[in-house]
Amino acid sequence: MIQYYVISIQPNLENQSFMLILSSLYMLFSILAESLAKMEETTKRLELTSIMVDIFKQVSPDHIAEIVYLLQGKVRPDYEGVEVGVAEKMAIRAIAKSSGTSQAAIQAKYVETGDLGEAASHILEKKSQTTLFAQEVTVDRVYNTILKMAQVEGSRSQDMKIKYISSLLNDASPTEARFILKILLGSMRLGVAENTIMDALAEAYTGERANRILLEEAYNVSSDLGRVAHTTAKYGLEGLKSFKVTPFSPIRPMLAERIRTESDALSKMGVGFAAEYKLDGERVQIHMADGHVEVFSRKLERITEYYLDVIEAMPDISKSSNIILEAEAVPINTETGEFLPFQNIMHRRRKHGLEKAISDYPVVVNFFDILYVDDQSFLDEVYEKRRQMLQYVIKEGGIARLVPMMIIKTEADIVEFMESSVNAGCEGLMVKATDSIYRAGSRGSQWLKLKQDYQKGVGDTLDLVVIGAFYGKGRRAGTYGTLLLATYDDAQDMFLSICKVGSGFKDEDLDTLYQILNEKILTKVDLRVDSIMEADVWFAPELVIEVVAAEITRSPIHTTGKADGDSGFALRFPRFTGRIRVDKSAEQASTAEEILTLYNGQAKSY
Ligand code: ATP
Repeated sequence: MIQYYVISIQPNLENQSFMLILSSLYMLFSILAESLAKMEETTKRLELTSIMVDIFKQVSPDHIAEIVYLLQGKVRPDYEGVEVGVAEKMAIRAIAKSSGTSQAAIQAKYVETGDLGEAASHILEKKSQTTLFAQEVTVDRVYNTILKMAQVEGSRSQDMKIKYISSLLNDASPTEARFILKILLGSMRLGVAENTIMDALAEAYTGERANRILLEEAYNVSSDLGRVAHTTAKYGLEGLKSFKVTPFSPIRPMLAERIRTESDALSKMGVGFAAEYKLDGERVQIHMADGHVEVFSRKLERITEYYLDVIEAMPDISKSSNIILEAEAVPINTETGEFLPFQNIMHRRRKHGLEKAISDYPVVVNFFDILYVDDQSFLDEVYEKRRQMLQYVIKEGGIARLVPMMIIKTEADIVEFMESSVNAGCEGLMVKATDSIYRAGSRGSQWLKLKQDYQKGVGDTLDLVVIGAFYGKGRRAGTYGTLLLATYDDAQDMFLSICKVGSGFKDEDLDTLYQILNEKILTKVDLRVDSIMEADVWFAPELVIEVVAAEITRSPIHTTGKADGDSGFALRFPRFTGRIRVDKSAEQASTAEEILTLYNGQAKSY
């Protein structure tokens, strides 16, 4: 039964003011929570879509964005940097405050159930539900409380946050509490990728799932699914035409497919394609307009403060002051001019002493694409034209460079260019079709990547999620000596174990990782993690690190690629490369599918 905050909906309304009330309907959170519970029980994309279609059809266009963000465990698009993340300890204190139960008893229930949301719902069930002044828990209220909570800062922020959480829990039913906590802790396991949400939006508001593609176009240039949802709900497909490339809304990056050899490039591209050095730094999207500059990461997070040197230089670098550019920022030794390892950029990722870090770890900005200039989108221009404009608009010198490019006609050309790229300290080449437009948000065959690494070992570096750890012994006592790593499975929204890694770590890496990982400790294995191996410590699956390995083998003790009764995949002789991939989210880690492709490629190359 559909229940709204305004309970009765009468058909055939004549009364205007009642229509007004209807248009600002608030959905009860219990309705959403019920749907979330159903979604948790299925991994089938069609079922997930149809549950979401039902929800979307019930909610007013003015509140659809809230629902879409909550479904993704967010409150705002990533680039606004509003973090929901609440630590377990804080959540336990809030549950204790609302229920009058001791923190120890909550902890015990948590260990028993394996999920803090679940534990809270059991505990709150026992609490008397007859609170006299209970306020209705609407989606709008949950959303706004979480948003306010995410924005509080300052010395009393912990107490304020606990107050906000417990104010919700005081009025929530056990099921509502379960999902409120799951959202806050980031432990909702719905398995809904952005594309599935867009399928559901297209079906709910346009009657045609195939229209997803139009929603996707809007999403690719806005990186804001809530805004796409709101516009579709309110103005239909016509409304989506208003989505244009706009400075300060990051554009989803175009990505590349792997190739293994130079001759693969020729067989995929024919002759007359472009090759560029593949630099090993951080991908940055730089937006400049109205005398203002912002920098966004590959994950579309706002990272402006880490690049104040670049911001300052931008007006001198670009001939246009109304522009969106893509570049690879690479740390450099200013005396020798040599590129330095990527991890030097990590030193800039700090709250204190940022100015010193910026001057101690200088970068050069290597421009490789232009997405917008002088009020005009360049996404639909072909590579050739974009490169021409880039060469015209960028004034090289100081920290600004153009990525070296060569038009490849023969295999000898590409072999030679690959060699000079590697000699210059780069990873290899990016191969780009000269007649291709910029396909925002897609990984296709118009861009190919050829790394030196692909030519040895398993064929590539892998970006894996740290899910657990084993305590170090001897010299490594007091740190985590070995980490348990996982791939990401987007169909199930699960992290599947693939190897233990204990080599490649320098002492300072172990210290840094220990500090980062200690913020992510969980009492029990995360619900999104599937591991047969028992770690000493479990972590929230968030941190991505890069590893190389000698070989991919079949293994019964890891769950990546494991079907019923079958073996999974494991990495032989994995080694940490020294790169913590702060620029990737856990959901952007290597997938089981990629492992399978590399495994098959490996077999062929024997
Ligand atoms: P990788 O792990 O290889 O960096 P990725 O998954 O981060 O891959 P891909 O699209 O697969 O992203 O590889 C392209 C990446 O290479 C870009 O995200 C960018 O950071 C980097 N890069 C370096 N040089 C270039 C270039 N000339 N053109 C485009 N991207 C470049």
